[in-house]
Amino acid sequence: MPKPLRIQLALWSALLVVLLAGCSPTSAGAGGQGSKPKVLTTFTVLADIARNVGGQYVAVESLTKVGAEIHGYEPTPGDVRRAADAALILDNGLNLESWFAQFVERVEVPHVVVSDGVEVMDIASDAYAGKPNPHAWMSPLNVKIYVDNIVAAFSQLDPDHAEAFAANGRAYQAQLQTVHDKLLAELSALPEAKRALVTCEGAFSYLARDAGLTERYIWPVNAEQQATPQQIAAVIDDVRTAQVPAVFCESTVSDKPMRQVVAATGAAFGGVLYVDSLSEADGPVPTYLDLLRYDTDLIIKGLTGGEQ
Ligand SMILES: [Zn+2]
Repeated sequence: MPKPLRIQLALWSALLVVLLAGCSPTSAGAGGQGSKPKVLTTFTVLADIARNVGGQYVAVESLTKVGAEIHGYEPTPGDVRRAADAALILDNGLNLESWFAQFVERVEVPHVVVSDGVEVMDIASDAYAGKPNPHAWMSPLNVKIYVDNIVAAFSQLDPDHAEAFAANGRAYQAQLQTVHDKLLAELSALPEAKRALVTCEGAFSYLARDAGLTERYIWPVNAEQQATPQQIAAVIDDVRTAQVPAVFCESTVSDKPMRQVVAATGAAFGGVLYVDSLSEADGPVPTYLDLLRYDTDLIIKGLTGGEQ
C-alpha cells in the first residue's frame, strides 16, 4: 500500500475513534504525539515489559502508580478519562486485578490478558485455596510468554511495525533468559537448609518453584483481611521450626505483621522485596529486570546472613 494512502487511512480511523469516543478533545488523534497508539497497563511492572516490546512506536502508561496496592485498587474518574482514548489495555489476568472487569466495561476499550498460556500455580491455603496465584510475572520464563502475547497484541494494533515488535520481543526475551539463568544459579547455590523464603504475601510462588525454594507467607494474596493472629502464629511456628535466618515483606504492604514474626522468633528482617510495583526511577528497581536482580540479591544476602 502506498504510504500517503496508509496515512490517510490511519487518519480516518483515528477520526472514527474520536467520533465514537464522543469527540473527546484530549483524544490521541490530535497533535504531534497522536500517531502513537496509547496503551494502558494495569500496573507498573507490566508497563515496563510492554515498553520493551513497543519501543518508540507505542505510548505505554500504567493506570496504577508506583507503590500502589494493585489487587484491590479502586479506579478514579481520572483513570476512566485516561482510558477513554487508549487503543488497548493490557491486564495480567489470573484474578490479579479484582477491579478490572468492571473498569474495562466502563471504558469500552479492548484489552488483552498477558498471562494467557502460562502454567498457572494454584494458591494452597486459606480462603483462596484452589484459585490461581496471580503473580506469574515473578518467573522470568513466564514473562517470555507475556512478551509473546504483547508482541501479538501490538502487531494487531499497529501492523506496520509488527517486525519491530517481534525483534524487540526476541531481544527482551533473551535478556529475561539471562536473568533467569543467573538467579537460578545464585539461588540454587544456597545450602539446602537455608532455602526458605518467608514473605508477607504469597507472591513468590513462581520464583520459588523456578529456584527450588520453599515458600511461606503470612497471607496468600493482598486483601482486606490481612494477617490474622492465626496466620501470624503459623508463620512464627514455621520460622522457629525451620530456623529461618531472615524474613521479608513486599513493598506495597505494611511490614508490621512481619515485624511481629521477627520479634517472636529472633529471625532478621531481610528487607523489602518488590513484586506488585516497580520503584520510582531513582529508586532501587526502576525496571522489571532490576526488580528480579534486586530481590534475588536481597534474598541471598538475608538467607546467608549477609556473608556474600
Ligand atoms: Zn500481590
